[in-house]
Amino acid sequence: MHLLCDPHTHTLFSRHAYSTLEENVRAAAARGLELLGTAEHFSKMLYPVDDPRNYQYYENFDVWPREVDGVYLARSAEADIVDLEGHLFGHDIVFENHFSGSKRPEPVTVKDLVFRGCDYVIASVHDKTFAQGATQAQMTQAYLGALDDPKVFILGHIGRTGLDIDVDEILLHARELGKCIEINEHSLAGDYGRTPARCRAIAERCAELGVQIATSTDAHISYAVGDFQSVASLLDEVRFPEELIVTRSRAAFLDAIVAAGVSKRSKL
Ligand SMILES: [Zn+2]
Ligand SMILES: [Zn+2]
Repeated sequence: MHLLCDPHTHTLFSRHAYSTLEENVRAAAARGLELLGTAEHFSKMLYPVDDPRNYQYYENFDVWPREVDGVYLARSAEADIVDLEGHLFGHDIVFENHFSGSKRPEPVTVKDLVFRGCDYVIASVHDKTFAQGATQAQMTQAYLGALDDPKVFILGHIGRTGLDIDVDEILLHARELGKCIEINEHSLAGDYGRTPARCRAIAERCAELGVQIATSTDAHISYAVGDFQSVASLLDEVRFPEELIVTRSRAAFLDAIVAAGVSKRSKL
């Protein structure tokens, strides 16, 4: 089992994470990874949401080298799903000004501002308040809507939230769009009650239905980057087909992003 990409990691920018980009890159190189994706929380949980200065991090990605020590640096964000239609954080926040204070030629939503710099986006649920009282059909629709966003490539940790969803419907929609379901080390290794059982069932169903998965650590500190111990044993146990694992190599991951129409080769 080769798991050579870690497309979902966090740096200090995410506030409850502890390492710098460089520390994560060194850890990735030491573990022999071919691709490291940095996907900071794009969510109300970090900073006051309506100030353009709080998003300038996402507007300067071009200073990053594309490759360091054999590790490809992918630019991403982990966007919160914020309602039952599957809208993503920032879709309704409009900025007229640049973070410098000068006026933009056109107003822009913070979602568009952030997504345009990303190679792909991970859509996850963190604050579940919007889902209170929702039916299974409504909650399923939230994930389907998020998958429909052209920049979303991965649905993040759907086994961890405990929400009532029609797993098959979500998986089949991901397959139709050439997108991925995440199998998340943090969900399996953490103290999350029934979550590992749900993640296992989701992995088995992905294998049965032929749905692509993206393995990730969701590392919040460099020591966890590329440590796929629990994910690897789960995938071994269920004999997960390697060709459905987009994180098996850098080439497979980048090809899958292009095939899903999330990113153009020329931009990578
Ligand atoms: Zn986090
Ligand atoms: Zn995360």
